[in-house]
Amino acid sequence: MQAVVCHGPRDYRLEEVPVPSPPQGGALVRVEAVGICASDLKCYHGAAKFWGDAIRPAWAETRVIPGHEFTGRVVALDDAAREKWGVEPGDRVVSEQIVPCWQCRYCTRGQYWMCAPHDLYGFKRRTPGAMASYMTFPPEARVYRVSGELSPAHAAFVEPLSCALHAVERAGIRFDDVVVVAGCGPIGLGMIAGAVAKFPARVVALDVSDAKLALAEKCGADLTVNVSNTDPEPIVRDLTGGYGADVYLEGTGHPSAVPQGLNLLRKLGTFVEYSVFKDDVTVDWSIISDDKELDVLGAHLGPECWPAAIRMVESGRLPMNEICTHQLPLADFQDGLELVADGTQSIKVSLIPE
Ligand SMILES: [Zn+2]
Ligand SMILES: [Zn+2]
Repeated sequence: MQAVVCHGPRDYRLEEVPVPSPPQGGALVRVEAVGICASDLKCYHGAAKFWGDAIRPAWAETRVIPGHEFTGRVVALDDAAREKWGVEPGDRVVSEQIVPCWQCRYCTRGQYWMCAPHDLYGFKRRTPGAMASYMTFPPEARVYRVSGELSPAHAAFVEPLSCALHAVERAGIRFDDVVVVAGCGPIGLGMIAGAVAKFPARVVALDVSDAKLALAEKCGADLTVNVSNTDPEPIVRDLTGGYGADVYLEGTGHPSAVPQGLNLLRKLGTFVEYSVFKDDVTVDWSIISDDKELDVLGAHLGPECWPAAIRMVESGRLPMNEICTHQLPLADFQDGLELVADGTQSIKVSLIPE
């Protein structure tokens, strides 16, 4: 079969590799679509730089097939897998991007998304990803059925959407909240849709692109602000009786969005960080303590949010045709990576294996 194989930074190659065999208690899946994520791009540009320090161990390996946001059809599975996941051959399925060990401190406490070995599809040799014609789901995977009626690229969007919904859950949004979402890429748009579904007073979207802000409106944003030409602060103050936003969801990956959020929040507000940053971010940390006593929360992956993300995509309430801007053949993966790197012409770029 055809597969993209990572040989190191900026060295991904299309290769002919053997079709894997389904593991015991797992499944063989024919990949229908795989999205390219900002994190894929970071690995492509030299993961060691970003993951290779003492705090963030080097978890991206070479000789790995990338791709962690995907959908496909079940080709083969045994009775154990059939029973566990409730899926049959021919079903359209997705699998959570993390394959938990179910044995570490986090897994045994129900915090599987923080699993210590942290086997994510497409970053480790033990869990090859979806940039290939076929992939396998190990027995430890969390697998869900998705409507076969959806376009494959739309079904693969369940992964980034689950991540965005997890960030929204972290925020603990209340009905009277004014929620500000920074960034209207795939994660930010999902945050907007998720925040709107919680029915707060207002959802305000920030970005530097008018096209992306128009899409934010279609995802339910009540108000959009282009921060390249308009200061969002007086607007947010106006909406909140001068106090500031209750919740700030950060999904830009741009360092400037962090002080922006600290500034826009009211005292005792909630800051949720989902981005992975290329560079360190410097802020006046005392805003968090002395000034505002903020709750600053991280968010990672999309635990317990997959069923909701699937319902949301299947419901047709999101402008999926406009979110999934590009579908390229797998062989054109290099063009796909460049589109994501450029960031101005695309929202979600997907690869379609043969
Ligand atoms: Zn992703
Ligand atoms: Zn674990």
